[in-house]
Amino acid sequence: MSQIDASDAERTTTPTAGSPTAPETHGLTVWAEIDLTALAANVRTLGALAPTSELMAVVKADAYGHGLLPVARAAVRGGATWLGAAQLVEAFALRDAGITTRLLTWLSVPGSDFGGAVERDIDLSASAPWVIDEIAAAASRIGRTARVHLKVDTGLGRGGAYGRDWTTLVQHAHRAEADGSVRVVGLWTHFAHADSPEHPTVLAQQERFFEAVTEAERAGLRPEVRHLANSAATLVHPSAHADLVRPGIAIYGLTPVPQVDDDFGLRPVMTLRARLALVKALPAGQGISYGHAYVPDVDTVVGLVPAGYADGVPRNATNVGPLLVDGQRTTIAGRVCMDQFVVDLGPGSRARAGDVVTLFGGAPGEPTAQDWADATDTISYEIVTRLGARVPRLYVGAPEGTA
Ligand SMILES: *Cc1c(COP(=O)(O)O)cnc(C)c1O
Repeated sequence: MSQIDASDAERTTTPTAGSPTAPETHGLTVWAEIDLTALAANVRTLGALAPTSELMAVVKADAYGHGLLPVARAAVRGGATWLGAAQLVEAFALRDAGITTRLLTWLSVPGSDFGGAVERDIDLSASAPWVIDEIAAAASRIGRTARVHLKVDTGLGRGGAYGRDWTTLVQHAHRAEADGSVRVVGLWTHFAHADSPEHPTVLAQQERFFEAVTEAERAGLRPEVRHLANSAATLVHPSAHADLVRPGIAIYGLTPVPQVDDDFGLRPVMTLRARLALVKALPAGQGISYGHAYVPDVDTVVGLVPAGYADGVPRNATNVGPLLVDGQRTTIAGRVCMDQFVVDLGPGSRARAGDVVTLFGGAPGEPTAQDWADATDTISYEIVTRLGARVPRLYVGAPEGTA
């Protein structure tokens, strides 16, 4: 079959999730099945948790590795009324593909193409006065009003205006509104510890945010939306829902709070599979892969999996990355290489070249992206987002996301 990528947004295969030997994957080395029905259902589930707020589906970083355009369209079908992206280039790709949903981006530098953003009706974030100035200049050049969200640093210590800088930013934005080139439509912030439900900074940041909102409104700003909740806050801090929630990881069916024993009804969207490229016998004592980091102590049968760190398999999954092969849970044997790794199938294995290996997914018995995160000392976000460009994404599930 031909590879399906983000440029073929609306093409979907017949559902293959759970039936990995479907002909669509015949001949593929490694691929990711992206279940758009699950994605739309996750958006609906999150929407039901925050029923009085609008929902922004965060699709930055190629939709956390799942494919920007198909995910954005499925999220809108699931009820998202906003989309969020980190960088302008991502937002331009959405608009240039014909997606008209309200859209916010939040990372820019001096010289960013603010004019292109205003022309495409993309909302922009400002954390400092120079951003307002550049946006206003670009907007007046093309005779439009830019839509701007002012970001306050309420204690994340990353983006946003901190402390007294907020007062300066608010006053600067208010003055800039006077000539019609910018309008402040949003006020927003981001949490540092939303994934630790009991952490005292969560409430402190929330309080600081609502003070900052009051200050901005007293100064004359009239925002349409106030927003602060990422996935974790959407799931576990209802008091932070405000006018708009901004879930990312949860729309992909992964939990931001793995220590909380609840899947919140979310369904994993990505399943990563590969086919064995070679099966062969090796004698006891023959070290496996670079550096011989794994040495079988009995005569055994090994399989070669054609997926490596170029595809997003972490190199530190060496000897620990979990797999499902032939209905059995096992782990990677030896070093993960750029394009491949080895699995010890055990003495007497009847596996054959072409058999399917599941790295992670969501079906019973399959390792999860969280299992990979635990094994490699990272978070599930990184496991899915790092998937390499050469891994085809196969879109499965009902195109209308009706399930
Ligand atoms: C990435 C991001 C989100 C989504 O975060 P999740 O933890 O994936 O839900 C929300 N808001 C901002 C500003 C972000 O950068």
